[in-house]
Amino acid sequence: MSNFNVVLLEQQEAELRDLVFATKDVEGAAYVLMRECKIASDPWDRRSRTKFVAREVVPIPAEHRVSSSAQHVTWDTRGFVALLQRCQREDLVLGIVHCHPHGPRDFSEQDDLNEAELLRTACNRNGPGTKLVSILFYDDGGIRARVWQFPEHKADCKSVAVFGERFRVHLPGGLSPVSEVFARQVLAFGDSLMSQLKALRVGIIGGGGTGSATAMLAARAGVGQIVIVDDDIVEPTNLNRLHGATQSDADVRNGKADVAAREIARMGLGVRVVPLKGWANAPHVRDALKSCDVIFCCTDDNSGRIFLNRLAYFYFIPVIDMGLAMAVAKPPAKGMAEISARVTTILLPETCLLCRDAVDTDLAREEDLRRRNPTEYDRQKREAYVRGEGNPNPAVVTFTTEVACMAVNELINRIVGYRKREMGSEHRRRFLFCEDRATSASPRSSCPICASKFYWGMADSKPFLDLVG
Ligand SMILES: [Zn+2]
Ligand SMILES: [Zn+2]
Repeated sequence: MSNFNVVLLEQQEAELRDLVFATKDVEGAAYVLMRECKIASDPWDRRSRTKFVAREVVPIPAEHRVSSSAQHVTWDTRGFVALLQRCQREDLVLGIVHCHPHGPRDFSEQDDLNEAELLRTACNRNGPGTKLVSILFYDDGGIRARVWQFPEHKADCKSVAVFGERFRVHLPGGLSPVSEVFARQVLAFGDSLMSQLKALRVGIIGGGGTGSATAMLAARAGVGQIVIVDDDIVEPTNLNRLHGATQSDADVRNGKADVAAREIARMGLGVRVVPLKGWANAPHVRDALKSCDVIFCCTDDNSGRIFLNRLAYFYFIPVIDMGLAMAVAKPPAKGMAEISARVTTILLPETCLLCRDAVDTDLAREEDLRRRNPTEYDRQKREAYVRGEGNPNPAVVTFTTEVACMAVNELINRIVGYRKREMGSEHRRRFLFCEDRATSASPRSSCPICASKFYWGMADSKPFLDLVG
């Protein structure tokens, strides 16, 4: 059985909506060029899945329009054939987008006939097996999509996800019934939040102080699918802040990801939760990450952050990155010099994490070296070419958990928009000064990730994320 999803950015959706609804009460059409994200095995259902990631919106020139009314739109297919040529050259999938200004809320028989014909043209030009995505916009904001691969067969997409200032997953079935467990949360934010959270596939990278808290909070809030990625085991010195971990987990050296997953399963909320042992950038974790709609980055690891930063731009997977800085004052000063939290949502077209100076690239290089070649790392450390790990940083559960709360609240706000004042893509809390503020940054002109659109929506590429070595 086919398993398809479509992913759009909010600004692409707005652009498409403007194009297809350009003339009041008349059907309009446009094209969208998409790249594929192929998942061999989804961590939750173990099935293969393909996400179509929108790369470029292409208007249909007015002179190509043949006729249109409230019930139909037809256009000259010269542009279509030219785009097919480009699809073949650049490994793109062609999407056609149209609207039904007054319903029906489904593809019509005419759509079936037209699209089967377009697919025949596509297969004749680009070879059998060529795919065609068809996206339908409703006037109430709804979206549906389906995929044609054979003239006799079309498959409905399981969801169309739109990410931007707001996150919205369009599901063909509408709202799903909400368990009474969430009755008190529904009082605050309604059924629709629950349906959205239940549909979401969420990755939690890091199962430590912030990660274990994020995992528990996301599950309690109603997220339906969670994958937790961590390579570490529970140590006695983690027990002050790991939610759900016990002394016996430390005794038998249980994995942090396994412990978090076990605790979520014990909640009995019906969350599908999968633990994965490994680093974020390990090849066996790739499919799980690509399967996610949203990822929480709860790691201290700089190279992991750089990796997820790329992933967000390639695959349009928003990454909610969190950081906590706790530093003790240098003598003779006493007390804490800093306690501050940062939550950054890495999301197009916003500035990336590297341009926000949220990552230490020197440390990232050392972390990579330590994992890839421990002998060489030790040699460089002896010769003082690398800084090495310093003393452990202070960590206090109330603060690690508060950062996790800020991050999960960010997700809830992206879905329902409860804030009266938007915080933008980055939010800092300075605990020592009772201060909350939004911070912004501009891309550096030389940034390959966010200053240029080259990688935006590239999805699958060889090598993965265009990373060499
Ligand atoms: Zn139609
Ligand atoms: Zn950047």
